[in-house]
Amino acid sequence: MAPSTSPRESPHTSKAETTAEAEQIGSQRTQLLCILTVVLVASSLWIHGQTYQGTAQLHALMELLATLIAAFSAVLAYLRYYARRNSSFMFLCLATGLLATSCLDTYHIVISSFLLTSDSLAAATTHWSWNASRFLLATVMIFCWIASRADLKRQTPMFPEWLVYVGITNFTLLLGISFFVLELPSAWFPDAAVSRPLELLSGILFATALSGFLYLKTWRTESFSFWLVCSLLISTTCQLLVMPRSSNFFDADFEWAHLLKTLSYLAILIGLLIDIYQLHRAIDQAAASLDHANHRLRESEERFALASEGSANGLWDWDVQSNQVWYASRFWRMLGYQGPAYPSSVLDSFNRHLHPDDFEKTWAAVDRHLHQGETFDVVYRLKHLSDGYRWFRARGVANHSADGKPVRMSGSIQDITAARQAEHQLKEKSLDLQRSNEELQQFAYVASHDLQEPLRAIAGYGSLLQRFHAEQLSNEGQEYLDFTIDGAKRMQSLINSLLDVSRVRTHGKTFQPIDLNEIVHTASNNLAAQIRETEATVHITNLPVLKGDSSQMIQLFQNLMSNAMKFRQQDQKPHLVIQAEEQSDDWLISISDNGIGIDPQFHNRIFTVFQRLHTREEYSGTGIGLAICKKVVERHRGQIWLESQNGAGSTFYFSISKHLQDQLQSDGENESDLLT
Ligand code: ADP
Repeated sequence: MAPSTSPRESPHTSKAETTAEAEQIGSQRTQLLCILTVVLVASSLWIHGQTYQGTAQLHALMELLATLIAAFSAVLAYLRYYARRNSSFMFLCLATGLLATSCLDTYHIVISSFLLTSDSLAAATTHWSWNASRFLLATVMIFCWIASRADLKRQTPMFPEWLVYVGITNFTLLLGISFFVLELPSAWFPDAAVSRPLELLSGILFATALSGFLYLKTWRTESFSFWLVCSLLISTTCQLLVMPRSSNFFDADFEWAHLLKTLSYLAILIGLLIDIYQLHRAIDQAAASLDHANHRLRESEERFALASEGSANGLWDWDVQSNQVWYASRFWRMLGYQGPAYPSSVLDSFNRHLHPDDFEKTWAAVDRHLHQGETFDVVYRLKHLSDGYRWFRARGVANHSADGKPVRMSGSIQDITAARQAEHQLKEKSLDLQRSNEELQQFAYVASHDLQEPLRAIAGYGSLLQRFHAEQLSNEGQEYLDFTIDGAKRMQSLINSLLDVSRVRTHGKTFQPIDLNEIVHTASNNLAAQIRETEATVHITNLPVLKGDSSQMIQLFQNLMSNAMKFRQQDQKPHLVIQAEEQSDDWLISISDNGIGIDPQFHNRIFTVFQRLHTREEYSGTGIGLAICKKVVERHRGQIWLESQNGAGSTFYFSISKHLQDQLQSDGENESDLLT
């Protein structure tokens, strides 16, 4: 649930809109200041001619009101300064200045209320005490302007806090005491055009501060600055236009000046109240967005915790500087721990679980990642609570501070023990296979040489017996001898065929680009006698150039073409069609014939060694041709199959991979399926 967003905070409020709004407020304030100036000047000029005469009580009341406002404003300004970190130093100057002014104003009330008689010394003191308060505030306003200017330029204050207190207090005391110690001259010349020339001094200081603030232009955007400028405008008018021309106590100028002084304090008070209100609003909004951010943070944390629980990995986060590590609970559960017993969140916990033999390589990898930016991806063993060491794959990534120091590193571990075991078993199996392959090769050697020898002897001596001693044998004996010789020869042929199958993988050549048109041409040449004898026609569509073992390809085509002619229909001349089709990953080759066809139930069987569907009397052969074809195709990463019906011709298909490498494809192949 997202908290509602006020228009002021709306993210859709563009910067341009905000600037336009600020511009509008700025020009409204300019107009207000112009109007205020005109009103102040006009009213001050008008009042000068008036014959109004006030009273001492009214004067005392106005001074009291001004003093209270100044004191209250001072308290607010202190609050404003101390309630916030990095508050403007101006508020401290203003608060202390207003407090000092209210002290001097109090002093002025006392003097003017109790001592104001015809006594000229007391009258002079009254003038001086009023002037002291005005002078002090005008001076403080200059310092406020300096502090504001420093704020704007983001400079640190030029003087410490204590100096503000000590400086203003001493200045105030100095002004107060001087009335008693010094014999002050009269500051009032009733007959002169400017009856109170001393007022002009504070007037000039107020005017200077006013010009300074106007020049800073902060009043266009900040409410408090605007009200401060209003206050300075009132004070400047009071000190330059009104009070200097008051020729008597309580005359119209005198009373108007006192009212203006009170109004100038009031302007500061209003400015402070608005500023504090706006500050409060801003804090409120900040708190609301903080709440919102907290809510989202909580949500994101929950999501993260859930994802971490649901993931098969154990997450960790290492604060490189403090060496503290955060481990997701899944991390420790992967090592057999249960909730309350999780090891502590320090790096030592991890090190204690790390296999001693993996320690060095792991930390070297971490070091290379942190300082050379190498990818961190290592495999190590961690001690399981009850199951010895288990294998883990750890990956992680670090981030660095601006000066390149590693700050934190986060990542995960993945249990790969099962995969490692499977890999190990695979290796064992592969070694077993290699061993059995070697044994098989030895067997092939024995079969080709040692077994053939006695067979040759049987066949050879049988033939000799037949040639030179046949007449000594009965007809029956001769028949037995024929069987013996024939059996021995067949045995020889079977062994040779068997060896041919095994040699497909062990005696293969490297794969090279070969033109299948040439291959088929060579195979046809080798089968020329059979083609001639059976009057076969061979139709070849354009065949591709592909990678393969040329000798084996010739053998493959030769076997398939030979079968197509051998298993022909008695009343038809064989017709063969050889074509190729390109597919995404391989070439699909087909050889069709119009022969006797094969019942679908035998389609798989015929690719097995020695599997024949006819007797030797019907069709010659050993039943090894298609088994060799299958081995050749498999070595070329392809498959072989057929489509055929009894009596309806056959189409043999085989695929040859397009992605064969140049190297010899015989390494470690399993020969044990030779007889399956
Ligand atoms: P062989 O040709 O020595 O008998 P093969 O392995 O080449 O051995 O073939 C196995 C059997 O598959 C053959 O005996 C035959 O029954 C059947 N065969 C193979 N090719 C064809 C074909 N083109 N038409 C019909 N039958 C076939």
